[in-house]
Amino acid sequence: MRKILIVGAGQSGLQLALGLQAQGYEVTLMSNRTADEIRAGRVMSTQCMFHTALQHERDLSLNFWESQAPRIEGLGVSVAGPESQRVIDWVGRLDGYAQSVDQRVKFAGWMETFAQRGGQLVIHGAAVSDLDYFSRTYDLVLVAAGKGELVSMFGRDAARSPYAEPQRALAVSYVHGLGPRPEHPDFDAVRCNLVPGVGELFVMPTLTTSGRADILFWEGVPGGPLDVFKGVKDPSEHLALTLELMEKFTPWEYARATKVELTDANGTLAGRYAPTVRNPIGRLPGGGLVLGVADVVVANDPITGQGSNSAAKCAASYLASIVEHGDRPFDEAWMQSAFDRYWATAQHVTKWTNAMLAPPPEHVLNLIGAAGELQPIADRFANGFNDPSDFENFFFELEKANAYLAEVSGA
Ligand SMILES: Cc1cc2nc3c(=O)[nH]c(=O)nc-3n(C[C@H](O)[C@H](O)[C@H](O)COP(=O)(O)OP(=O)(O)OC[C@H]3O[C@@H](n4cnc5c(N)ncnc54)[C@H](O)[C@@H]3O)c2cc1C
Repeated sequence: MRKILIVGAGQSGLQLALGLQAQGYEVTLMSNRTADEIRAGRVMSTQCMFHTALQHERDLSLNFWESQAPRIEGLGVSVAGPESQRVIDWVGRLDGYAQSVDQRVKFAGWMETFAQRGGQLVIHGAAVSDLDYFSRTYDLVLVAAGKGELVSMFGRDAARSPYAEPQRALAVSYVHGLGPRPEHPDFDAVRCNLVPGVGELFVMPTLTTSGRADILFWEGVPGGPLDVFKGVKDPSEHLALTLELMEKFTPWEYARATKVELTDANGTLAGRYAPTVRNPIGRLPGGGLVLGVADVVVANDPITGQGSNSAAKCAASYLASIVEHGDRPFDEAWMQSAFDRYWATAQHVTKWTNAMLAPPPEHVLNLIGAAGELQPIADRFANGFNDPSDFENFFFELEKANAYLAEVSGA
């Protein structure tokens, strides 16, 4: 059977490894950490995944935590006014529920499953020199190492990467003890709080190593009042800062957070990165070729919560491309076509996410405002997180936005 090496045991690497394994491929998975190290390590994401991406996991019977993870049935948007009051506030209902399973839980569990099913798991932080050697002994080498150092093998695609610098400073806290949403306590929702010119606060339920929890996630405009987490090493100081900023900018979220405590000492994360699309094929010094997967080739800012969704979609798309290719060689032309097939979906995510990082044009503000009056608009926004290609139809262009508004208002 064909031999495939996957470097990186994250959302895409694990999903692809388990999918190929189930089809009888001989898969080696290289991870720079053991399952136990991942489980006991730092949180990595907020990893909210929507219906289509979750369905890819279900298709491979990898939805091990579906019954335990909170079902996120809506997506709420609030916009803060100059006096830190809510000038816009609505919640859209999702057609299919979303879920967030702490990547520490998921990656560790999937890694153990891969090994139990006879997969070869190598604990080693791969360097380019390793790949040079392995590219000669495997039919295909896939690099699914996220935003780690190996991305340097893949050239930046400047035409598809409008930002050269990070557009947000990120600060995450996993907490127990958050009160319910005041508006709709009967179902769980992601809360998106927009503070114009300052940044965004996302609040969402998750399943973590200690059970159900909530995540408080600030995205701050660099250099602005939320960009204060750099260098904060003490987790309780990180949480205190998070709450202080919530009290100041989003007091309605702070009101339910007065009793929270961190889930664990590794329940905080801070950082930033520039959203980047890369050329999908990496050339090794010895002439071998490797194909980049998910964040390696398309890394968007988490402002739209799409990275894990995209990683699941990339893994599903690559799995289909590999299987359909049969016994033919995984040459450069095949690698490019596998990426192009994924990009057909991924381009919509990148376009929408990059748009959300910029100050919104007036027609977008109108749409967000109108969603508070007209429930179909709120619902359509929410379901756009599942299928961002729909934003092409009503969001980017003034004419399409106006036509849609007129259509919904008339109805
Ligand atoms: C703060 C934050 C919040 C986010 N929130 C969301 C969200 O709500 N929804 C969403 O969909 N996405 C979200 N994302 C994005 C999402 O987490 C990532 O896009 C997704 O995990 C990418 O999957 P991947 O498979 O490409 O890489 P990863 O899941 O990052 O996996 C890469 C793996 O490779 C390993 N690795 C790295 N280098 C090497 C090496 N040299 N050798 C071996 N192994 C290596 C890493 O340790 C890691 O385990 C968020 C990201 C951040 C930072």
